[in-house]
Amino acid sequence: MPIYEYKCDVCGHEFEELVFSSSTENPSCPECKSKDTEKQLSSFSSGASSDDPIPSMPPSGGCGSSGFS
Ligand SMILES: [Zn+2]
Repeated sequence: MPIYEYKCDVCGHEFEELVFSSSTENPSCPECKSKDTEKQLSSFSSGASSDDPIPSMPPSGGCGSSGFS
């Protein structure tokens, strides 16, 4: 589900909102309940996911512990 960022034009509060399907109606500001919110273009890149695999780097300092001859 896409999460869009919105910014309130009244109080300047920024918040994220889950948007289902192609809803064109802006959500109201959770702070001041104003409808004067505008959608922010998503600035974060989709490539920087937190699901990146952890590189299997052995911890440094284990000299000679791997049985390397
Ligand atoms: Zn507001």
